[in-house]
Amino acid sequence: MTTITSSQEQQIVDQVPKQLYIGGEWRDGDRGTLIVEDPSTGEALCEVADASTENAAAALDAAAEAGPAFAAIAPRDRGEILRRAFELIIERKEDLAVLMTLEMGKTVKESLAEITYAAEFFRWYSEEAVRIDGRYATSANGQGRVLTMKQPVGPCLLITPWNFPLAMGTRKIGPAIAAGATMVVKPARLTPLSMLALGGILEQAGLPGGVLNIITTSSSGETTGPLISDPRLRKLSFTGSTEVGRTLMAQASQGLLRLSMELGGNAPFIVFEDADIDAAVAGAIVAKMRNMGEACTSANRFHVADAVADEFSAKLAAKMGAMKLGRGVEDDVDVGPLVDESQRSKVSELVRDAIGRGAQAVVGGQARDGAGYFYNPTVLTDVPDDAKLLHEEIFGPVAPVRGFGDEDEAIAAANDTEYGLVAYLFTNDLKRALRVCERLETGMIGLNQGMVSNASAPFGGIKQSGFGREGGYEGIEEYLETKYVAINL
Ligand code: NAP
Repeated sequence: MTTITSSQEQQIVDQVPKQLYIGGEWRDGDRGTLIVEDPSTGEALCEVADASTENAAAALDAAAEAGPAFAAIAPRDRGEILRRAFELIIERKEDLAVLMTLEMGKTVKESLAEITYAAEFFRWYSEEAVRIDGRYATSANGQGRVLTMKQPVGPCLLITPWNFPLAMGTRKIGPAIAAGATMVVKPARLTPLSMLALGGILEQAGLPGGVLNIITTSSSGETTGPLISDPRLRKLSFTGSTEVGRTLMAQASQGLLRLSMELGGNAPFIVFEDADIDAAVAGAIVAKMRNMGEACTSANRFHVADAVADEFSAKLAAKMGAMKLGRGVEDDVDVGPLVDESQRSKVSELVRDAIGRGAQAVVGGQARDGAGYFYNPTVLTDVPDDAKLLHEEIFGPVAPVRGFGDEDEAIAAANDTEYGLVAYLFTNDLKRALRVCERLETGMIGLNQGMVSNASAPFGGIKQSGFGREGGYEGIEEYLETKYVAINL
């Protein structure tokens, strides 16, 4: 890759629609505009429409109106729209990657990986659209018949975070379209551009107006609150923090909405003494440094067998210390900035707290001076039990390493958290691998690999990491209702 010029960057930003997408039309927001920043410089990139509650209501009107006709479209036709959108995303992936990097910070190489991952949800659900079925069975007493059919859930509100600006959207939008459901999408204020670009792509792919509506806003709670209490809304799918997830669940309880909650994590990364340590370090780099550590799946705590803990920490520190920080659009950069100053301050505070309680920084340990929200990759050892970063999501490039004695101790430490999204496990002992997988309290496990994200697999958590699954056969069920007909023969 060669570094692109600032005028090429501007051209890519200029091409993105900046208005609200409602009922198949691009419209201004009633509250003017909101500024989108480049986190690598702290400077404004552009402005996008700022939606009011009235704009949001119009978006739900459009979704509700489009619902019956869209549900009646042939499944193959819904699948073909997704397939065309998949191809358009892949065709434009270079520009989309630069756009994502400019609004979010990660390197263009990482943005390309996210765009491929995001597009795969459209390809997967283009294939699932034609496999929605029901069943016909004899009832147990033999006297009647049971018929079931699957139908779209109805209008949905989809709320997405800033850390994966495209993929967190496509893994909701893909199955919703495949199921025949219509939707209002609200991307995060910090990173609306990728979603607006996706709106343009779906429009070009032939998605009927009103099926997908996009509202960008500077006041998320105020704008989405009335939608959540609107009786026409049938489903809320949220990806974001556990704290906001709880608030939205409380709001959604009034309307008894179907819910999917993809929330925060505190992933343990366990390395047994029988593991291939170099492979574990390579896995740790992916699990920790993907997205600069700003991922719900990011390894938050490294539990390493005492016998190999020093070797693991030294090798991890050498690799993390050698990573080059810089603007994600520049050539040869490994680590971009964090998304904003509040995120960086939170990371700094967690590291200060750990060091204050006795942790040692083998590498890093502080923010980088200068423009942008950069934080140096950091490895901490001797981290005490009460360090806050063992219990909270770090969301930054910081790896706390702790030793353990035996398998029971490792499992107890790994499960000692309110979260339950993902765990990583490195061992070459098959029996141990299966034994530990069965006892880990998480929705997903990376076994001898540092990444679990895959469009063909069910992504999701347990405990305070939420519920519901995105991806795989399971993902479309979140957008379908099962209707049963009792047949008297
Ligand atoms: P966040 O603050 O919870 O925000 C997520 C989304 O909710 C954003 O679009 C945000 O909009 C919106 N929002 C915030 N308050 C709201 C309210 N009162 N009513 C309606 N919408 C509201 O989370 P974030 O900081 O963007 O994302 C990071 C979090 O997401 C982390 O905890 C991470 O673990 C989690 N995450 C989970 C998964 C998963 O699959 N489990 C995947 C990725 C990320 P504004 O930002 O515009 O206010």
